Amino acid sequence: MATKNKTNVKFGTKAVHAGVTPDPTTGAIMTPIYQTSTYAQRSPGDHKGFEYSRTHNPTRSALQESIAALENAKHGLCFGSGLAAVDAVIKLLNPGDEVIAGDDLYGGTYRIFTKVFAKYGIKFNFISMEDVTNIEKHITPNTRLIWVETPTNPMMNIIDIKTAAAIAKKHKVMLGVDNTFATPYLQNPLDLGADLVMHSVTKYLSGHSDVVMGALAVNDDKLAADLAFIQKSCGAVCGPQDSFLVLRGIKTLHLRMQRHCENGEKVARYLANHPKIGKVYWPGFESHPNYEVAKSQMRGFGGMISFVFKEDDQQQAFRVMEKLKFFVLAESLGGVESLANHPATMTHGAVPREERMKVGLLDSLIRLSVGIEDIEDLIEDLDQALG
Ligand SMILES: *Cc1c(COP(=O)(O)O)cnc(C)c1O
Repeated sequence: MATKNKTNVKFGTKAVHAGVTPDPTTGAIMTPIYQTSTYAQRSPGDHKGFEYSRTHNPTRSALQESIAALENAKHGLCFGSGLAAVDAVIKLLNPGDEVIAGDDLYGGTYRIFTKVFAKYGIKFNFISMEDVTNIEKHITPNTRLIWVETPTNPMMNIIDIKTAAAIAKKHKVMLGVDNTFATPYLQNPLDLGADLVMHSVTKYLSGHSDVVMGALAVNDDKLAADLAFIQKSCGAVCGPQDSFLVLRGIKTLHLRMQRHCENGEKVARYLANHPKIGKVYWPGFESHPNYEVAKSQMRGFGGMISFVFKEDDQQQAFRVMEKLKFFVLAESLGGVESLANHPATMTHGAVPREERMKVGLLDSLIRLSVGIEDIEDLIEDLDQALG
């Protein structure tokens, strides 16, 4: 299962083929939806590698292989949501262990760290990672995990994965990267030295806003076995129907991402020139503080953009979002359709206002997930809404 992921097959070919082989019984090209909880055994313990679907399901196995291939990983594991994947990672730790995490994280990740795991005696230290050497200053003898999100949500900060990995290796600490925003099409953290990649598959990998799912990809066999143990013991697995939908979504990941990047650049440049808009956050601007890092670790800059108004007026932001037609006002991101989101009250409502202000997440900040529609219509929509 693992070996063919390491071949030199190009990304688009992997997106279409990895993990998928014609069904041995019928020749069906598409991996069947194995909608079954259990599997017949010939004699106790004598089975075909499948005993119970919490542990193994053939549709999920195909998807896990596909995601591993896209991340140049040996092992992939899929979960019922992105946060279930994060949950499995933190369950590798013990009371007293410490985690160093970025101070500009997806709100739900911040919530599971502070509201669920802190009470089990795991300590979380949220720090700025824009200058990645800052991580080293916070490492203690109890540090077990460094958690990086890049680009960050919603401030679009870029964190230098290669340098973070070097620091992690030096101190024998695990480095985990949430690669949801970049996707494996734009960035492969394991190739840059990370130990573990996490995805909210809900977003670009699925790509059609119809599934909630998470995934992990790792190279180390022991780490993979430990995570598989948590996956089956805790049971936050994804079902076969959802696995099928994501396998289908991944087949066009490279084409979708190409368009997300093209449209993203055009929207970012349009917003940057708009008289009502203060600051636009997008890693493709040469003025972005970590533009050089973005250029070196990403193959494109993606379709996620945040912006604030010249005056930090939440009411003005609300009026614009109410007027948008093609940018649907909704949480989430990464689907084919464009979405607009107000992090302060929606996705990042769990982050206290003081914390938000520290990282520049103002009340007027709007986050856009630029879809794959025709760019003329998207610009026209923004133009009429901004008035
Ligand atoms: C959505 C998201 C998550 C959480 O994933 P779910 O699938 O919603 O549980 C984690 N990290 C990032 C960056 C996200 O955008």
